Order: sequence, then C-alpha cells, then structure tokens
Amino acid sequence: MDSELLADKVVLITGASSGIGTAAARVFSGEGATVVLTGRREDRLAALVSELQDRKAEASYVVGDVSVAADAGRAVDLAVARYGRLDGAFNNAGIGGDRTPLHLMTDDVYDTIMDVNVRGVWNCLRHEIAAMLPRGGGAIVNNSSVAGLVAIPAAAPYIASKHAVVGLTRAAADEYAARGIRVNAVAPGTTRSEITVDWFARNPGLEQMVNSLTPQGRTAEPEEIAEAAAWLLSDRCPFLTGTVLPVDGGFANH
Ligand code: NDP
Repeated sequence: MDSELLADKVVLITGASSGIGTAAARVFSGEGATVVLTGRREDRLAALVSELQDRKAEASYVVGDVSVAADAGRAVDLAVARYGRLDGAFNNAGIGGDRTPLHLMTDDVYDTIMDVNVRGVWNCLRHEIAAMLPRGGGAIVNNSSVAGLVAIPAAAPYIASKHAVVGLTRAAADEYAARGIRVNAVAPGTTRSEITVDWFARNPGLEQMVNSLTPQGRTAEPEEIAEAAAWLLSDRCPFLTGTVLPVDGGFANH
C-alpha cells in the first residue's frame, strides 16, 4: 500500500480559504492529493495555491459561493476538466452565525445559515456524485459538527443545519453505496478557526465553558480535523460509509 494516504487522488475542498479547510488543503496535499480549493476570498485561495505549488504539489482554486448551485458545479467541472476526474471531496464550507436564544434569532440568520450549511452541502453533493458515478466511485466527507449530534447553547439554526448535514450524509451514503461512492461526515468539537475566534471574542468565558465540557479539556487545532477527514477520504477504510465521526476530545460522549 502507498505510504501517502491520498496518493494520486483529485480532491475538492470547499471553504479552503481559512480554518479547517486551509488545514485540509495542506494535509491532503502533503498526503499526495491534487487539490481543488474553493471559497469566496480569492486572495486567500491564491496565496494557498502558491504555497502548495512551492512545495511541488498540484493545486488549483475556484472562487465561488457554495450556496449557489452553479458555483458548486464550476468547481467540480474544473477538477474534471483539468485533472480528468474527481476522486474525493471534503464539503467543509460553513458559517457559525450568532449565539442568540432561539426566540430572539431572526429569520435572516436562520435563512443564511441554512443556505450555506445545508444547501451548500446539497449543491456540492449533487455535482460531486454526478462526476463520480461515471468513474465507478469516490469518497465524500461532509463537515458536520458536534452540534450535528447534540445541542450546544444558543445556536438553534446552526444545530439544525449540522443535524441536516448528518441526514444528507446518511441519505447519500445509503443511496450510492452500491455504486462505489462512500459518504461520511466528521463532527468536530470546538476547533481554533475564524468561527471560534469570533464566537469567543463576542462571548467572554465561552471558550473556558466549552473546554470544561470537553473531556480532553481543550480546543482542537484545525489539522486534527483535517487528518480525520483525510483518512475517511482514503482507501484505508473501504467498508466505512454513512458514519459520523466525532473529532471532539470526547465532548459528544457525555
Ligand atoms: P472558518 O470560518 O475559518 O472557515 C469557514 C470556511 O467556509 C471559509 O473558508 C469560508 O470561506 C467558507 N465559506 C463560508 N461561507 C461560504 C460560502 N457561502 N461559500 C463558500 N465558502 C464559504 O471556520 P472553520 O474552519 O471552523 O469552519 C469549517 C467548517 O467546520 C464549517 O462547516 C463549520 O461549521 C465546521 N465546524 C467548525 C467547528 C469549530 O469549532 N471551528 C466545530 C464544528 C464544525 P470564504 O469566507 O472565503 O467564502
């Protein structure tokens, strides 16, 4: 077996312009993957692609919004046109939204979170699966959250969106298992990224509170989530589909 987890695989990563997605670009590419990166901030994507190319990796980016179906389609199309196929996808793009009690949350916040976190995964899944079917298979990992498994305080639309990502993961895994496509999800616990830096800045004491509820007592680094996604995308777990893997220091085990 090749020593690199993702040797010769073409893998799409959404939300690669920061946080877990940027870490995934570095980890997947370090494991031999050709990566196609998406997000809305072109400056970040361009800088990351040049960083990876400096390390002799093959990488491209497509600027786009996952909540727009045509944008999701363009990223998949570029992977197929430039590299001949799509072997894997990490549907990672997502937003956190305000931490507000449910009865005070606005419809706008609900709609925006659902559009990005649920419709975004929906749009990507449809295009990715359509590109993988003619080649007889592939692997997809959706980024849910521990909030896709249990409730966390004052984040109802986010919790609903991440439970929906679990539902889409299970549905797609069930529907395409016999056609060679594995679909799994990671459910990260609190991870250092722009979402959490923002949440912690606006909610003093939140980081300490979350860490106190995490058996390992700390926040994850983005690379820890990326490593789990890399394994799920690899050929090392061929019988694994429809699962949601908590990467959470034990948080959801309570
Ligand atoms: P970041 O805010 O650092 O990264 C989010 C990424 O998503 C960015 O690259 C952003 O790129 C992209 N993104 C957001 N909205 C859109 C959009 N409409 N279209 C395309 N890309 C978009 O946070 P994280 O790295 O933490 O988040 C990554 C994923 O991890 C999310 O799905 C999040 O819910 C999940 N997660 C995070 C946890 C944490 O504690 N950090 C815990 C559990 C899950 P750009 O702005 O350039 O478009």
